[in-house]
Amino acid sequence: MSINVTKAYLPPLAEYVHYLEGIWERGWLTNNGPLVQQLEADLSSALSGAQVQFMSNGTIALQVAIKALALTGEIITTPFSYVATTTAILWEGCEPVFVDIEEQTFCIDATKIEAAITPRTSAILATHVYGYPCDVRAIEDIARRHHLKVIYDGAHAFGVTLSGGRSLLSYGDITTCSFHATKLFHTSEGGAIITTNEELAKKVWLYKSFGHVGDEYYSLGVNGKNSEFHAAMGLCNLPRVPAFIDARRQLAELYHAELATLPLRYPIPPEGIGYNYAYFPVVFEKDSTMHRVKDALAANGINTRRYFFPSLNQLPYHVGAACPVSEDISLRVLCLPFYQQLEHNEVQRISKLIREALAD
Ligand SMILES: *Cc1c(COP(=O)(O)O)cnc(C)c1O
Repeated sequence: MSINVTKAYLPPLAEYVHYLEGIWERGWLTNNGPLVQQLEADLSSALSGAQVQFMSNGTIALQVAIKALALTGEIITTPFSYVATTTAILWEGCEPVFVDIEEQTFCIDATKIEAAITPRTSAILATHVYGYPCDVRAIEDIARRHHLKVIYDGAHAFGVTLSGGRSLLSYGDITTCSFHATKLFHTSEGGAIITTNEELAKKVWLYKSFGHVGDEYYSLGVNGKNSEFHAAMGLCNLPRVPAFIDARRQLAELYHAELATLPLRYPIPPEGIGYNYAYFPVVFEKDSTMHRVKDALAANGINTRRYFFPSLNQLPYHVGAACPVSEDISLRVLCLPFYQQLEHNEVQRISKLIREALAD
């Protein structure tokens, strides 16, 4: 039996069919239907009351966020993220300026941001990598002093809380999220824009709906909406998120115990957060050992992913300034299979193969 790096959770079919019956009765498939409204309301309560708009995916959410904040010129960003974080900046005609990452969390190093600010800088766009929070307080402080906007790519951060229980997704001018099938909470395809700013929320609403309401045309827009079918998947999965996180915590503990004697390094979450166990990343001593383990697992039908490689300052179509920490980690990091339905004996089998590969 092959094991993938991730596996989308599918709710009991009857539960989904129940929502489909409602869709069939109403004949309302998309354009802000009742299931989309319900999901947005439920998400808003789950995300500390911030305004949530359900979108077609996390990439269009990033693009609309950049547009809604009218960003121009340079955007300070992280080189250690999924490629969409950088391409959204380029797609919107802005220039990504990469600031290296922290050794601990693999998130952007807030202490290095100010040195990268120029008169052309309009914003900071940072990713909560693997669900580990960026230093949101330091970033907020820098942004306030330099009059910059802040967008967080929260694609990994669903369910993460900071001290006091506030949702990590409620920080920044805008946080975007992805509900892609590979994420902890998914709607098959989907994403969201989360903001506590009412004015901004209105802009986002127009931008994601062609810029018009009925016959009134207000602004440029795009189609960033999502459908009743995707909302239905979200409504099935949302109540299960605490159970997903709990199952993943147990799997992470098992991996740590099974791999304890090996010369591996892990990113370390900051103290005092409510973590979501979104991924299980492992950093090897050398890129050659990472490749040896990746190949050994692949030979046994076990899929891993190089999250994240390449370091985004080294994309073939856009090369940025050197980021030694990110470049080094991206050569040595591997995400192991990790999803709530993974069996404990599968974790043991994967770990044994890793131990054997490293003993060679
Ligand atoms: C998945 C992901 C995205 C893109 O989300 P889609 O919904 O697949 O478009 C953006 N940023 C990060 C960090 C991601 O992991």
